[in-house]
Order: sequence, then structure tokens, then C-alpha cells
Amino acid sequence: MALLDVRGLRTGYEGIPVVFGIDLSVDEGEVIALLGANGAGKTSTLRAVSGMIPLLDGDVTFDGASIRGRPAEDIARRGLVHVPEGRGIFPSLGVEETLRMAGAFGKVPKDDLEARLEETYATFPRLAERRRQQAGTLSGGEQQMLALARGLIWRPKLLMIDEMSQGLAPRIVADLFEIVAAFPERGVSVLLVEQFVGRALEVARRAYVLEKGEISFAGTAAKLAKDEDFVKGSYLGDVAVERLPEDRRRQRDAVAAVEEVAVHLPPALLRALYERAEREGVAAEDLIRDAVAGRLEPATKKPSGRARKTSASTKKASTNGRKKATAKTGRRRG
Ligand code: ATP
Repeated sequence: MALLDVRGLRTGYEGIPVVFGIDLSVDEGEVIALLGANGAGKTSTLRAVSGMIPLLDGDVTFDGASIRGRPAEDIARRGLVHVPEGRGIFPSLGVEETLRMAGAFGKVPKDDLEARLEETYATFPRLAERRRQQAGTLSGGEQQMLALARGLIWRPKLLMIDEMSQGLAPRIVADLFEIVAAFPERGVSVLLVEQFVGRALEVARRAYVLEKGEISFAGTAAKLAKDEDFVKGSYLGDVAVERLPEDRRRQRDAVAAVEEVAVHLPPALLRALYERAEREGVAAEDLIRDAVAGRLEPATKKPSGRARKTSASTKKASTNGRKKATAKTGRRRG
């Protein structure tokens, strides 16, 4: 039986489908590539599988049970972990602090956390060297390692990785692919969304190509690798990214903002923390750090000292501008 079995998946935004009834599966020990042009529906597929956006139709079975309609954090705790596009790193948190925080949200037993940290550092020795460093000061490749490490600390059965090579130099991308190719040896299967088609086909056993929300190829990676036009990338970018009306664009920004933080945080908690951060004019990451450390005091009507200090620069932060507020704070501190 497949570890992940997606049948007739239809998903989209505000009831408007962008993925039209696709089937795909991942077996234990497999690396699978999900490829396609910009706007083809790859990210939306991952979001639907990990419970971030609803299924309009179809079913998703993971590890023998249907996960359709399950909350994102429940799906992640079952071992299906999504490493979103954009990495979602808090710039002012330290490397180890980020990993411990992920462990706390993933309910990793305290007596197991140290072993998992060491296991993660063994996979990413660069992160071990930088364990006390602020995440915002890491290179792009190291930030991607941190995003992967944060997923691995949960000891997932399946890691879904969205565009890990985005914006990275080819040498770094090659290193990351080598690391990911070895995940199945430690019991982690991989579903990889990638624009670096050649590399992805080298590490994947099978591949799917999405075209305008439908599967146009399903087969072995070796077979797809022989399709020179496809691999050369002439295929990519053929499909123009649809222009979205303003309200759909806003919704997309909101989804992206949640992903940026960490797909592992319970959405309700995240929303509450963001709302409070905006109300108090402080950085959301400070509140999240306090919450994890058990230091978060109940909200008061009066702005706190921290709020008074930072309100001038963050007052403008609106719901849409969460990303910007986080980045701003990171720069100021780092
Ligand atoms: P890319 O590589 O550009 O991310 P993709 O294959 O991952 O492409 P998706 O991001 O899944 O494609 O986008 C599929 C379609 O859904 C596109 O038309 C896109 O504009 C639309 N879309 C994506 N996110 C949202 C959103 N939050 N709200 C509304 N429409 C969205």
C-alpha cells in the first residue's frame, strides 16, 4: 500500500479550482518529483495534502488512513510534514532555538529532543557549527538547511519540500539534493516540487508533471529525463501566471504569510499571536518565542514596554504586511 495516496484531488481558492482531480502516490522509501510550469498547481497540491487549504473533491490517504479535512497540525503529527516555499525562517531566532521551538510545537518528548537535535546536526553539520547564530544571518543555503532540519526534527515519514533550490547557487543546490537523496535511508520518503528539473530527476524514482492543474505525465524519472525539451526547461514558464483580482491576491498573501512562519504551528494559535502582535505593535516572532518559553503574559489593553519601544516602526504592519513586519524587525535586530 502507498504511504501517500492522492485520488481525484480537486482544490483551489474560494471554491474556484486550480487543480482538477489529480491522482498521485508516494511509496515508502521513494523520492518523487512533482514538476510543472509556474502556476500549474504544484504548491496548491502540497497545501491541500498538508491540510492548509481544503479539498474541493477527492481523497488523501496517508499511512493507511484518510486525512481529508484533518487540521494541518494533526496531519504533520501523523508524520506528513510540509517544508513550504520561502523557508519560513524567523530572522532573529537562533538556529538551535528554531529547532527547539519546532520540537516543542511538534510535541517531541523532552527526553528525545537532544537525540533528535544531534541527529539533525549530523545531517547538517553546517547548522551544528552555527547553532548559536541568528537565522537571519545564515546564507540562503543554510536557511534552507534549517527549514529542512525543522521538518526532520519531527521524524516524519514523508517530507513534502516546495522549491528548496529557489534563489540558491547551483553548487549549494547540488549539496542539498545529495542530502535529500539520502533521506529514504533514514525512513523519510520525499515529495519534491522543483524547478531544477535535471537535478530532481536524478534523485527521484518517479515523477509527475502538472499542466494547468492536470497531470500530463506520470512515470519513471528516467523516462522523463529522456525528454530533452522538457529537461532543458523550454517547458517551464510556458504557462502564464494568471492575473489575480485584488481580493484573491490578498488571500494568497495571507496563505503565504502563514507558510512563512511555519506550517507546524497550529493556525488558530498563529492567528491569535499575529493579531496580538499587531494590536501591541510588537514583532510576532517575539510573542511566539515567549509563548514557547512559557513567558507569555496574558494580553492587556495597555501597550507593553516592548510595544512602546517598537510601535513606531511596526504600527504600519497590516495583516497583509506581516511578512514585511517580520523582515523589518529582523533587519533592525540583526
Ligand atoms: P509556482 O511555481 O509559480 O508557485 P505552482 O505550480 O506551485 O506555481 P500554484 O502556486 O499552486 O502553482 O498556483 C496555481 C494557481 O492557483 C495559479 O493560477 C495561482 O495564481 C493560483 N493561486 C495560488 N495561490 C493562490 C491563493 N492563495 N489565492 C488565489 N489563487 C491562488
